Amino acid sequence: NLPALVKRSFRRLRPQFGDTSEGVRVLQWNVLSRVCGEAVSSPYHIRVLQWNVLSQALGQMNDNFVCCPDEALEWRSRRYHIVEEIVEYCPDIVCLQEVDHFTFLKTVLGTQGYNGIFFPKPDSPCLYIKGNNGPDGCAIFYREDKFELLKTVTRVLEVWRVQSNQVAVVMVLRVRETGQEICVATTHLKARTGALLSTLRNEQGKDVLDFVTTHHGGRPVIICGDFNAEPTEPVYRTVMNCEALRLASAYASSRDSADTSPIEPPYTTWKIREEGEVCHTIDYVFYSQDNFTVEAVLDFPTGEEIGEGRVPSFCYPSDHFSLVCDFRFKDANEVAP
Ligand code: NDP
Ligand code: CA
Repeated sequence: NLPALVKRSFRRLRPQFGDTSEGVRVLQWNVLSRVCGEAVSSPYHIRVLQWNVLSQALGQMNDNFVCCPDEALEWRSRRYHIVEEIVEYCPDIVCLQEVDHFTFLKTVLGTQGYNGIFFPKPDSPCLYIKGNNGPDGCAIFYREDKFELLKTVTRVLEVWRVQSNQVAVVMVLRVRETGQEICVATTHLKARTGALLSTLRNEQGKDVLDFVTTHHGGRPVIICGDFNAEPTEPVYRTVMNCEALRLASAYASSRDSADTSPIEPPYTTWKIREEGEVCHTIDYVFYSQDNFTVEAVLDFPTGEEIGEGRVPSFCYPSDHFSLVCDFRFKDANEVAP
């Protein structure tokens, strides 16, 4: 008797499917789902889902979400909501953080045509929790009918040449139908606030960028993750100013207009812990702007839809919302010289 997940809408940025009007359009998911197969599973498009799924051990035993009923955090039911959220949007690529049940996800998503890899944090806080299911870490899944896996590389992120407790995963994929290759990366940077931690995240961000720069081999790049940093933090600028990769943020691009600078959405996570309410943007999908155009992003639920207890809840299995973006490969004549 699981309550239904709240339906979210895609904000389509460019006219498609015979649209004649210009500009931003909001389409209901049920409208889009009938046409998205054609557009998104085309070899010229990629749909990416980025999500911190909330580790089962941390969510149940560590986070202390004071307004979330205990039953909503029960793994036996929550796990199906996690899967439902992923499968619902038919992503081609799935980047996840705080995964501490990889075997379950690999098994279930495997039945839906996905394959994936997982890399744990070296000293995951999950390991210190009674009844844990192993360390949490980052995972990337991809649709096997769309991509051939060429390479995976994992890294324990370094800060001033010393290993930290955070990781990154890089995957190189080839679109089977066209031969187009891409490089996808995911990471989960150090949590908590404070000037030192913000500096530490910036160093970790630089390490992620160096790691991707080493392995992308000139291919189009998508970097997704929970950066644990608001857009005002140094690491956000570091990513956006990376000369080697020329990255842009998909959700910020989707809000871009001629007379305003790009802005991120108001929140990607919204929770109430004992110490208070936290509502901010710390999750991102970055992409190499020379190679991709953002065609649509999945909007976030409103405060009203989320409800007063915020998330996680019976309707939303994580304290983070999923970010879903549709990319189109740029044509040769759209690519900057
Ligand atoms: P981080 O600071 O990166 O955070 C770990 C997790 O805690 C993240 O997944 C984060 O979620 C979550 N988190 C963030 N803020 C809060 C909060 N206010 N309350 C509860 N959870 C929160 O940790 P590290 O990976 O650096 O690991 C911490 C270190 O602490 C480990 O090296 C381990 O050795 C040690 N440790 C020891 C324990 C012990 O009992 N001895 C117990 C736990 C950790 P998000 O990213 O979503 O914000
Ligand atoms: Ca967390």
